[in-house]
Amino acid sequence: MRTRWLAVLLPVVSGFQLPFKLPFFNQSGQQTLQQPPADSKPRIAIIGAGAGGSSAAFWISKAKERFGVDVEVDVYEKESYIGGRACSTTVFPYGNSSLPPVELGASIFVKVNKNMWRAADEFNLTRLNFRDDDQGMGVWDGEKLLFATTGGWWGWWDNAKALLRYGFHSPRRTQALVDTMVNKFQSLYAPEVPRWQNISHLSSILGWDELVSQTTSEYLLSNGVSNKFISELVEGATRVNYGQNADELHALEGACSLAATGASAVEGGNFRIFENFLKQANVFLNTSVKSVSQTGTNKWALESDRGAEIYTAVILAAPFHSTQLQVPSDISSQIPPQPYVHLHVTLLTTTQPSFPAQSFSLPPSTKVPGMLLTTFEGARNGGKQPEFNSMSYHGLISEGEWVVKIFSKKRISDKWLSKMFDGQVGWVLRKEWDAYPVLPPSSEFPPTKLAPGFYYVNSFEPFISTMETEALASRNVVDMLLHESFESGICGPVGTPLNDTDKEDFVYGWDC
Ligand SMILES: Cc1cc2nc3c(=O)[nH]c(=O)nc-3n(C[C@H](O)[C@H](O)[C@H](O)COP(=O)(O)OP(=O)(O)OC[C@H]3O[C@@H](n4cnc5c(N)ncnc54)[C@H](O)[C@@H]3O)c2cc1C
Repeated sequence: MRTRWLAVLLPVVSGFQLPFKLPFFNQSGQQTLQQPPADSKPRIAIIGAGAGGSSAAFWISKAKERFGVDVEVDVYEKESYIGGRACSTTVFPYGNSSLPPVELGASIFVKVNKNMWRAADEFNLTRLNFRDDDQGMGVWDGEKLLFATTGGWWGWWDNAKALLRYGFHSPRRTQALVDTMVNKFQSLYAPEVPRWQNISHLSSILGWDELVSQTTSEYLLSNGVSNKFISELVEGATRVNYGQNADELHALEGACSLAATGASAVEGGNFRIFENFLKQANVFLNTSVKSVSQTGTNKWALESDRGAEIYTAVILAAPFHSTQLQVPSDISSQIPPQPYVHLHVTLLTTTQPSFPAQSFSLPPSTKVPGMLLTTFEGARNGGKQPEFNSMSYHGLISEGEWVVKIFSKKRISDKWLSKMFDGQVGWVLRKEWDAYPVLPPSSEFPPTKLAPGFYYVNSFEPFISTMETEALASRNVVDMLLHESFESGICGPVGTPLNDTDKEDFVYGWDC
């Protein structure tokens, strides 16, 4: 149990990004007006080159390769890099390239994320495991360290402490509920894959209405999990993964926070998967899309920094309210406002080999775990809020100097860092994100299809927000679009018998 639970509680590593240029993609920015000749092949525009947009281009390329669906795909990306929020890269502490690079992002995907897993294999990318529980894990409530594991060889002792504090039933029941959710999730890769026009429909197909309509706390309490276990360990996971408390976040996303078995990242950054996804598309970096409007029958006019272009279909693969996109009011009115969690990520180096015990009001000889999760329970009971969502050691960069990563709701000041590490802080780097949607219980989601020929990948995000689910959402959108406009989906026309359905680990879209 120990290793499983510690794996489950591994923190998500943030997706930092630095601009870079890819030689084989267009670097736009110039004003050009390109109207296709009337008899030219159909064109699809994708707005956004993150996990959602790049995978949409990839699914279309699969249909082209298999069934000769003859379309031109243009991907518009306002930034100078591919990957969006999942763009992860490495930086050199102090900007010194002779020091080992530090992973800034390396957002994690897990073994049950079959598209990401498969893509890493197919593109010959190396997966790195995130099994770093030797440093121990603790839960901080802003005033006290409530629970701490030792890690390493002391697993039996950690187990005994966990059993004493949380009992046997709460961890076991929670694990069983998470396993049930993960099993259902696997049906999204099966030959008889569900298709959905809207997320509420998918939610009922998967039997997840109960999960999305309750908070994580409500759902687990009603299933016999103790408040102590929820508010300490489960909330530690929801706060590090989604920056939200267990009594705020809906139970589906709460369960996803706990399903981290086999956590991995691609060596050199997960964006390498998204680069590969885009190899068959025309990618316009530094090119913001300003407006999309209907023109004539079944055609869309898209205006961007490149000028105006006409498309058969448009796929929006970015959170609508972050795009500043002008669309007709009958389309914008369908998308409810969606606030995002604003997350501060702070990377620093310190000569302190572990968190100083006195910073946590502990006796000097106490060894503080290298990974600290947090609970809001102290604040609920009138105490102080934790200053951070999570804080963890990420290895040595040179003899006697370690890297630490902090996720927080507010900016972590230099003064606070200096106090925490007893003045021993070297290099500091900060990054802010609108990281993930605020995800309270809900039964309503934005539509997947905004109008005939206009689709919205990120309608999935208020349901589950991960790289993998964006790739699943785009697969559903592309399948729908291709069936509607070209009478053939990713796996052929409706009714096409699929090959390899007996294959162990069949993945719809890859194996058909
Ligand atoms: C710090 C952090 C840690 C995370 N950790 C994990 C993790 O460990 N595992 C995981 O699976 N997920 C993680 N996530 C969530 C994950 O990154 C997102 O769910 C996923 O990457 C969203 O992909 P997307 O393509 O839908 O959106 P985005 O990545 O936001 O991509 C949208 C793209 O559209 C572009 N765009 C926007 N407007 C326009 C416009 N008008 N014209 C042209 N382009 C435009 C944007 O520049 C952007 O590149 C994390 C997120 C953050 C911020």
